[in-house]
Amino acid sequence: MHLDRCDSYHAACRKAGLHCGHIVSTSCFPLFRSARPMKLAIFDIDGTLVRSGSHEDGLFWHALSEILGVVKEPFDWTEFEHVTDSGITGEVFRRQFGRKPSLDALAATERFFAELWRDTLRAFSHEEVEVPGAGLLLEKLDAHPQWQTAVATGGWGLSARAKLTAAGIAHEALSLGCANDAIAREEIIAVAHDRARSVGNINEFERVVYVGDGSWDVKTCANLKMPLVGIAVAPETRDRLNALGVSHVLDDYRDTDAVFAALEAATAPHDSR
Ligand SMILES: [Mg+2]
Repeated sequence: MHLDRCDSYHAACRKAGLHCGHIVSTSCFPLFRSARPMKLAIFDIDGTLVRSGSHEDGLFWHALSEILGVVKEPFDWTEFEHVTDSGITGEVFRRQFGRKPSLDALAATERFFAELWRDTLRAFSHEEVEVPGAGLLLEKLDAHPQWQTAVATGGWGLSARAKLTAAGIAHEALSLGCANDAIAREEIIAVAHDRARSVGNINEFERVVYVGDGSWDVKTCANLKMPLVGIAVAPETRDRLNALGVSHVLDDYRDTDAVFAALEAATAPHDSR
Protein backbone atom coordinates (compact mmCIF):
# COMPACT_ATOMS: atom_id res chain seq x y z
CA MET A 1 0.00 0.00 0.00
CA HIS A 2 1.30 3.45 -0.92
CA LEU A 3 1.84 5.69 2.11
CA ASP A 4 2.34 9.43 2.22
CA ARG A 5 3.43 11.63 5.07
CA CYS A 6 0.43 13.40 6.53
CA ASP A 7 2.09 16.81 6.86
CA SER A 8 0.43 18.49 3.93
CA TYR A 9 -2.96 17.05 4.82
CA HIS A 10 -3.14 17.89 8.51
CA ALA A 11 -5.52 20.80 7.88
CA ALA A 12 -7.82 18.57 5.88
CA CYS A 13 -7.64 15.78 8.48
CA ARG A 14 -8.48 18.15 11.30
CA LYS A 15 -11.33 19.83 9.47
CA ALA A 16 -12.74 16.47 8.39
CA GLY A 17 -12.64 15.24 11.97
CA LEU A 18 -10.28 12.41 11.05
CA HIS A 19 -7.49 11.20 13.30
CA CYS A 20 -5.24 9.47 10.83
CA GLY A 21 -1.93 9.95 12.61
CA HIS A 22 1.37 10.93 11.12
CA ILE A 23 1.23 8.53 8.19
CA VAL A 24 -1.89 8.15 6.08
CA SER A 25 -2.83 5.95 3.22
CA THR A 26 -3.86 7.65 0.00
CA SER A 27 -7.05 5.60 0.34
CA CYS A 28 -8.09 8.07 3.05
CA PHE A 29 -8.18 10.99 0.63
CA PRO A 30 -11.74 10.49 -0.69
CA LEU A 31 -12.93 10.65 2.94
CA PHE A 32 -11.53 14.16 3.22
CA ARG A 33 -13.58 15.31 0.26
CA SER A 34 -16.89 13.89 1.41
CA ALA A 35 -16.61 14.24 5.17
CA ARG A 36 -17.89 17.78 5.54
CA PRO A 37 -18.96 20.64 3.26
CA MET A 38 -16.31 23.36 3.39
CA LYS A 39 -16.38 27.09 2.74
CA LEU A 40 -13.59 29.34 1.53
CA ALA A 41 -12.82 32.97 2.39
CA ILE A 42 -10.37 34.60 -0.04
CA PHE A 43 -8.75 37.81 1.19
CA ASP A 44 -7.25 40.73 -0.68
CA ILE A 45 -4.16 42.19 1.08
CA ASP A 46 -3.82 45.98 0.52
CA GLY A 47 -6.49 47.84 2.45
CA THR A 48 -8.02 44.53 3.52
CA LEU A 49 -5.44 42.73 5.69
CA VAL A 50 -2.81 45.51 5.82
CA ARG A 51 -3.04 49.30 5.91
CA SER A 52 -0.68 50.07 3.06
CA GLY A 53 -2.57 52.54 0.91
CA SER A 54 -0.65 55.73 1.63
CA HIS A 55 2.68 54.25 0.46
CA GLU A 56 1.57 52.23 -2.56
CA ASP A 57 1.67 54.90 -5.24
CA GLY A 58 5.07 56.37 -4.33
CA LEU A 59 6.88 53.06 -3.86
CA PHE A 60 5.40 51.56 -7.02
CA TRP A 61 6.58 54.46 -9.20
CA HIS A 62 9.96 54.50 -7.46
CA ALA A 63 10.48 50.84 -8.41
CA LEU A 64 9.23 51.24 -11.98
CA SER A 65 11.30 54.32 -12.70
CA GLU A 66 14.45 53.00 -11.00
CA ILE A 67 14.50 49.55 -12.62
CA LEU A 68 12.46 49.85 -15.82
CA GLY A 69 13.28 53.48 -16.62
CA VAL A 70 9.70 54.52 -17.17
CA VAL A 71 8.60 58.11 -16.62
CA LYS A 72 5.98 58.62 -13.97
CA GLU A 73 2.52 59.16 -15.42
CA PRO A 74 -0.38 60.88 -13.72
CA PHE A 75 -3.01 58.20 -13.46
CA ASP A 76 -5.91 56.84 -11.52
CA TRP A 77 -5.47 53.19 -10.51
CA THR A 78 -8.98 52.43 -11.77
CA GLU A 79 -8.10 53.49 -15.33
CA PHE A 80 -6.04 50.37 -16.02
CA GLU A 81 -7.56 47.32 -17.65
CA HIS A 82 -6.01 45.11 -14.97
CA VAL A 83 -5.35 46.80 -11.62
CA THR A 84 -2.52 44.46 -10.63
CA ASP A 85 1.22 45.06 -10.33
CA SER A 86 1.88 42.95 -13.41
CA GLY A 87 -1.05 44.44 -15.36
CA ILE A 88 -0.17 48.07 -14.63
CA THR A 89 3.55 47.55 -15.20
CA GLY A 90 2.96 45.87 -18.55
CA GLU A 91 0.52 48.57 -19.68
CA VAL A 92 2.79 51.48 -18.68
CA PHE A 93 5.90 49.87 -20.19
CA ARG A 94 4.13 49.10 -23.49
CA ARG A 95 2.79 52.64 -23.68
CA GLN A 96 6.24 54.18 -23.18
CA PHE A 97 8.50 51.68 -24.99
CA GLY A 98 6.16 49.91 -27.40
CA ARG A 99 7.06 46.41 -26.19
CA LYS A 100 6.79 44.07 -23.22
CA PRO A 101 9.36 44.28 -20.42
CA SER A 102 11.71 41.30 -20.17
CA LEU A 103 11.10 38.69 -17.50
CA ASP A 104 14.46 39.53 -15.92
CA ALA A 105 13.54 43.21 -15.71
CA LEU A 106 10.18 42.36 -14.19
CA ALA A 107 11.82 40.10 -11.60
CA ALA A 108 14.32 42.84 -10.70
CA THR A 109 11.47 45.34 -10.37
CA GLU A 110 9.55 42.99 -8.09
CA ARG A 111 12.62 42.45 -5.87
CA PHE A 112 13.36 46.16 -5.62
CA PHE A 113 9.69 46.99 -4.91
CA ALA A 114 9.61 44.43 -2.08
CA GLU A 115 12.81 45.88 -0.63
CA LEU A 116 11.25 49.36 -0.69
CA TRP A 117 8.25 48.00 1.19
CA ARG A 118 10.42 46.25 3.78
CA ASP A 119 12.39 49.48 4.36
CA THR A 120 9.22 51.56 4.63
CA LEU A 121 7.26 49.25 6.91
CA ARG A 122 10.22 48.65 9.24
CA ALA A 123 9.35 51.96 10.90
CA PHE A 124 5.89 50.72 11.93
CA SER A 125 4.70 48.22 14.52
CA HIS A 126 2.64 45.16 13.53
CA GLU A 127 -0.42 46.87 15.03
CA GLU A 128 0.05 49.95 12.87
CA VAL A 129 0.24 47.89 9.67
CA GLU A 130 -2.38 45.22 10.34
CA VAL A 131 -6.06 45.94 9.77
CA PRO A 132 -7.26 45.41 13.36
CA GLY A 133 -8.00 41.77 14.12
CA ALA A 134 -6.93 40.44 10.70
CA GLY A 135 -4.31 37.96 11.90
CA LEU A 136 -6.49 36.56 14.67
CA LEU A 137 -9.46 36.25 12.31
CA LEU A 138 -7.37 34.24 9.84
CA GLU A 139 -6.29 31.94 12.68
CA LYS A 140 -9.92 31.48 13.77
CA LEU A 141 -11.01 30.67 10.23
CA ASP A 142 -8.19 28.18 9.81
CA ALA A 143 -9.17 26.49 13.09
CA HIS A 144 -12.86 26.47 12.14
CA PRO A 145 -14.21 23.07 11.06
CA GLN A 146 -16.00 24.49 8.01
CA TRP A 147 -13.93 27.45 6.84
CA GLN A 148 -10.65 27.59 4.98
CA THR A 149 -8.71 30.70 3.92
CA ALA A 150 -6.74 31.88 0.92
CA VAL A 151 -5.27 35.19 -0.23
CA ALA A 152 -5.59 36.68 -3.71
CA THR A 153 -3.78 39.96 -4.29
CA GLY A 154 -3.09 42.14 -7.27
CA GLY A 155 0.39 42.71 -5.82
CA TRP A 156 3.54 40.77 -6.64
CA GLY A 157 4.36 37.87 -4.34
CA LEU A 158 7.50 39.29 -2.68
CA SER A 159 5.91 42.59 -1.66
CA ALA A 160 2.69 40.81 -0.63
CA ARG A 161 4.61 38.62 1.78
CA ALA A 162 6.69 41.59 3.01
CA LYS A 163 3.47 43.41 3.95
CA LEU A 164 2.00 40.38 5.71
CA THR A 165 5.25 39.96 7.66
CA ALA A 166 5.16 43.63 8.69
CA ALA A 167 1.58 43.15 9.89
CA GLY A 168 2.56 40.09 11.95
CA ILE A 169 0.26 37.87 9.88
CA ALA A 170 1.47 34.31 9.39
CA HIS A 171 1.66 33.56 5.68
CA GLU A 172 4.05 30.64 5.14
CA ALA A 173 1.21 28.14 4.66
CA LEU A 174 -1.25 30.49 2.95
CA SER A 175 -2.84 29.53 -0.34
CA LEU A 176 -1.67 32.65 -2.19
CA GLY A 177 -2.53 33.86 -5.65
CA CYS A 178 -0.72 37.02 -6.78
CA ALA A 179 0.31 39.19 -9.75
CA ASN A 180 3.06 36.70 -10.62
CA ASP A 181 0.36 34.15 -11.48
CA ALA A 182 -1.72 36.32 -13.84
CA ILE A 183 -2.47 39.92 -14.73
CA ALA A 184 -6.26 39.66 -14.32
CA ARG A 185 -7.77 39.60 -10.86
CA GLU A 186 -10.34 36.99 -11.89
CA GLU A 187 -7.50 34.62 -12.81
CA ILE A 188 -5.54 35.39 -9.63
CA ILE A 189 -8.60 34.52 -7.54
CA ALA A 190 -8.99 31.31 -9.54
CA VAL A 191 -5.37 30.39 -8.77
CA ALA A 192 -5.85 31.03 -5.02
CA HIS A 193 -9.08 29.03 -5.15
CA ASP A 194 -7.36 26.08 -6.84
CA ARG A 195 -4.47 26.15 -4.35
CA ALA A 196 -6.93 26.13 -1.43
CA ARG A 197 -8.76 23.17 -2.97
CA SER A 198 -5.46 21.36 -3.32
CA VAL A 199 -4.35 22.11 0.26
CA GLY A 200 -7.72 21.02 1.66
CA ASN A 201 -8.02 18.15 -0.82
CA ILE A 202 -11.52 19.41 -1.61
CA ASN A 203 -13.39 18.99 -4.89
CA GLU A 204 -15.72 21.97 -4.53
CA PHE A 205 -16.26 24.45 -1.74
CA GLU A 206 -19.87 24.84 -0.66
CA ARG A 207 -19.40 28.63 -0.54
CA VAL A 208 -16.61 30.96 -1.69
CA VAL A 209 -16.51 34.57 -0.46
CA TYR A 210 -14.05 37.32 -1.34
CA VAL A 211 -13.02 39.98 1.17
CA GLY A 212 -11.69 43.22 -0.33
CA ASP A 213 -11.74 47.00 -0.33
CA GLY A 214 -11.24 48.21 -3.91
CA SER A 215 -13.72 49.22 -6.59
CA TRP A 216 -11.85 46.69 -8.77
CA ASP A 217 -12.74 44.02 -6.16
CA VAL A 218 -16.40 44.91 -6.66
CA LYS A 219 -15.98 44.64 -10.44
CA THR A 220 -14.12 41.33 -10.17
CA CYS A 221 -16.68 39.77 -7.82
CA ALA A 222 -19.51 40.98 -10.07
CA ASN A 223 -17.79 39.31 -13.03
CA LEU A 224 -17.33 36.09 -11.03
CA LYS A 225 -20.75 36.31 -9.33
CA MET A 226 -18.81 35.82 -6.09
CA PRO A 227 -20.11 37.14 -2.74
CA LEU A 228 -18.05 40.07 -1.46
CA VAL A 229 -17.48 41.37 2.07
CA GLY A 230 -16.12 44.92 1.96
CA ILE A 231 -13.47 46.17 4.37
CA ALA A 232 -13.38 49.91 4.99
CA VAL A 233 -10.50 51.14 7.12
CA ALA A 234 -11.38 54.70 6.08
CA PRO A 235 -14.84 56.31 6.04
CA GLU A 236 -14.49 57.24 2.36
CA THR A 237 -13.92 53.57 1.53
CA ARG A 238 -17.19 52.64 3.26
CA ASP A 239 -19.01 55.33 1.26
CA ARG A 240 -17.48 54.07 -1.99
CA LEU A 241 -18.32 50.42 -1.29
CA ASN A 242 -21.85 51.28 -0.19
CA ALA A 243 -22.36 53.33 -3.35
CA LEU A 244 -21.23 50.33 -5.42
CA GLY A 245 -23.85 48.17 -3.73
CA VAL A 246 -21.62 45.95 -1.57
CA SER A 247 -24.03 44.08 0.70
CA HIS A 248 -21.82 43.90 3.80
CA VAL A 249 -19.08 46.38 4.75
CA LEU A 250 -17.00 46.06 7.95
CA ASP A 251 -14.51 48.48 9.51
CA ASP A 252 -12.16 45.70 10.65
CA TYR A 253 -12.16 42.16 12.09
CA ARG A 254 -12.36 42.83 15.83
CA ASP A 255 -15.98 41.69 16.09
CA THR A 256 -15.51 38.08 15.07
CA ASP A 257 -19.24 37.27 15.22
CA ALA A 258 -19.95 40.13 12.81
CA VAL A 259 -17.26 38.88 10.42
CA PHE A 260 -18.63 35.33 10.39
CA ALA A 261 -22.17 36.66 9.92
CA ALA A 262 -21.01 38.79 6.98
CA LEU A 263 -19.13 35.87 5.40
CA GLU A 264 -22.28 33.76 5.61
CA ALA A 265 -24.72 36.38 4.35
CA ALA A 266 -22.80 38.49 1.80
CA THR A 267 -24.06 38.46 -1.77
CA ALA A 268 -22.35 39.04 -5.10
CA PRO A 269 -22.35 42.68 -6.18
CA HIS A 270 -23.76 43.89 -9.47
CA ASP A 271 -21.22 45.94 -11.38
CA SER A 272 -23.05 49.19 -11.91
CA ARG A 273 -20.15 51.15 -13.40
MG1 LIG B 1 -7.13 46.22 -1.77
